[in-house]
Amino acid sequence: MKSVYSLLKRLVTVPAGNADLLKAQFEVFSSQVPLMYSIVLINAWALAITFTPEAPAWLTFWIPSVITLICCVRTAAWWRSRRSSPTAEAAHKALTRTNQFSFILTAGLAVWALSLYPYGDAYMHGNIAFFVGITGLGVIICLQQLPSAAFIVAIVINTLFVLYFSIAGIPYFFGMAVNLVLVSAAMLLIVTVQYRHFAAAVGARTKLELANRENARIANLDSLTGLANRRQFFTQLEEAFAESEGKRLAVGVIDLDGFKPVNDLYGHTVGDALLYEVGQRLSGLAGSNGQISRLGGDEFALTVTDCPDDAELLALGEEICTALRAPFVLAEATVQISGSVGFSVYPQLADDVHQLYERADYALYQGKRSNRGHALLFTSEHVAAIEQNQQLEQVLSRADLDAELTVLFQPIIDIQTGRTMAFEALARWNSPVLGSVSPALFIPVAERIGLIGDLTCVLLRKALAAACRWPDNVGLSFNLSTHDISSPDSVATIASIILSSGIDPRRLDLEITETAMMYDFSQAKASIEVFKILGCGIALDDFGTGYSSLSQLHALPLTKIKIDRSFVSGLHQNPASYKIVKSLLALSSDMGLGCVIEGVETGEELDALKKLGGVLVQGYFYSPPVAETEIAGFLPVRNPVRMTG
Ligand code: C2E
Ligand code: CA
Ligand code: CA
Repeated sequence: MKSVYSLLKRLVTVPAGNADLLKAQFEVFSSQVPLMYSIVLINAWALAITFTPEAPAWLTFWIPSVITLICCVRTAAWWRSRRSSPTAEAAHKALTRTNQFSFILTAGLAVWALSLYPYGDAYMHGNIAFFVGITGLGVIICLQQLPSAAFIVAIVINTLFVLYFSIAGIPYFFGMAVNLVLVSAAMLLIVTVQYRHFAAAVGARTKLELANRENARIANLDSLTGLANRRQFFTQLEEAFAESEGKRLAVGVIDLDGFKPVNDLYGHTVGDALLYEVGQRLSGLAGSNGQISRLGGDEFALTVTDCPDDAELLALGEEICTALRAPFVLAEATVQISGSVGFSVYPQLADDVHQLYERADYALYQGKRSNRGHALLFTSEHVAAIEQNQQLEQVLSRADLDAELTVLFQPIIDIQTGRTMAFEALARWNSPVLGSVSPALFIPVAERIGLIGDLTCVLLRKALAAACRWPDNVGLSFNLSTHDISSPDSVATIASIILSSGIDPRRLDLEITETAMMYDFSQAKASIEVFKILGCGIALDDFGTGYSSLSQLHALPLTKIKIDRSFVSGLHQNPASYKIVKSLLALSSDMGLGCVIEGVETGEELDALKKLGGVLVQGYFYSPPVAETEIAGFLPVRNPVRMTG
């Protein structure tokens, strides 16, 4: 008995717990309510009208009117909520209320219909039975997504029907009641099966949605650091931009200095752990209106909505740089790096999201060149510089390179003997439009617009022609750019210029920067091997400013390194620079390489270098780069320069 009761109770209650199912039931049911009540009302009025001549008005008009009113109120309530997405609890509550109401309505309707019985003849009685049966079955079908209510309706109708006609003692109707019980049972079975399918479909849909959501989450996340990835960064930036309503919005691009050596030296596991920790540290500093993303590699981004003024923004940038300088204690090693930040701010100096990012990146690049390890804000001066670059591009692309380019020479001196060992060729561009332009400006522009190959050829021919006029024991050092060593074609062109100049290739050093080498390491290596086979020396320029790992450098057939002048200036007063130059000198000697120290400007610097055992130096202390006509004073006296032409 108890188990029958608990089974009945289970059948007629709305199960809680499955939130998605409850919401789906609510959603589907709310759209079926009008149909269900339409069936009920049409049938009820049909019955009422057929009884109107016989039965009193309260039975054929007033009660149906009240039922109509109640049904309309219920329909309106459900109709209003059909597009709402209720919580699981609210859905459960609404469905339970429907359960209760279905009991009241069904019982009310059945009692009403049966109370018409005394007023009709046999046909009319059949009409009542037909009404109760068909309406009940119609409602059960409409309650497919709410089987508990379907059970309630079936139980109420069948019980009343069977009871009434048993008591009335009419065998014909009793047979009909049995029939109704059987059909209702079959309908309930169908409803139960349908509901199970419905629940399974909802479950599958939920799983699919979860999987989709997870996919979207993964697609927008950087798997290593858990931060937003590049795609998400731009999406969020677009959103922040759209919502900014003219309020300041800043983007900071953060780039690590010194990450690559850590990765090379300690391996990728340590590199990965470092990137994770960097992400954590940055997130800790971003503040409530800041958002950190990882753009890729060792590049991160910071988006600041409703951003403070420039000074505060830069202070935040410096805070980030300071935090990045603090040692990272990882499981395998304790490492130290630094980072630089470039900022740009909308609406001051950017019109759209793309420009905001590009300009922050530009500021980062400039900052890394001028003040590595700090924050720099994109300013109107940068806009001017970009415009100047664009002008440079246009003028350079139309320039007569042969006529406008010249080469100056700066002596490289052996400080032990005072003898000039070689000259470094340094390009000069005398533009009839722009005047004299620094190579630091026009070489990068030529690289960008694909003109550097032509420039190199013109400059190399001029430099070699000059060197051929010098004594045989004076060398020439010539700068190559990334492009020059990044394709076999340009290597072949350069090699043929060297060979056809008639110079002994052993007098020629080719200077290559680390960045040029790292662009495509294997091609760069292959290229410099060709030059090495020709007999040229290979000097690694600006050494110490990049991040090449020693293992990589070791794989290259280098003959010299050139210590960048940033380590030389004031080294007698700066213990850090002093130590760096000392270790670089030791390193070059360990690796069996020559070492040129660049940018020596004062006697103090020179004395310090002498003490450190430096041999080859170059710098304003001896001479700035000069025209070929002025180099006679630097040539060994016993071999006066043979000037021709
Ligand atoms: P770099 O190869 O590092 O050349 C040394 C630069 O330092 C030269 O600048 C030189 O004038 C300058 N310098 C030399 N001694 C001192 C000193 O004591 N103090 C200071 N403050 N500076 C000193 P420059 O001639 O303006 O050249 C700049 C850069 O342009 C070069 O840097 C090199 O990277 C590039 N460059 C110059 N000529 C060529 C070339 O023919 N081809 C290529 N691809 N690049 C070139
Ligand atoms: Ca150089
Ligand atoms: Ca240099």
